[in-house]
Amino acid sequence: MERSKGLVGKIDEDGYLRIKRGEKFKPVVCPFSVDGGCYNCGDWCALFGEPELWLRREGRSFILSLCHKVYVFDELIDERKEAENDLRQEA
Ligand code: SF4
Repeated sequence: MERSKGLVGKIDEDGYLRIKRGEKFKPVVCPFSVDGGCYNCGDWCALFGEPELWLRREGRSFILSLCHKVYVFDELIDERKEAENDLRQEA
């Protein structure tokens, strides 16, 4: 489990994971990209978990399990939910 104080992540509306490095959200590249390609980690992958809220006395965190890693974010923005809400409003 990777726990870094102040770690902020985002799952963008297309389901790709981004992590805030400095002032920018940068894509997380899958280390298992094959055929010379470079694929971003995202919910297209069967090994990409769903975020879970972790409530503790010290505060709340967000757990995201990937293939070989578990991130603990202080803040995790899930833009897919906003996209889902938009779709529901359009229906
Ligand atoms: S969960 Fe792992 S294998 Fe899947 S896209 Fe992300 S880094 Fe790659």
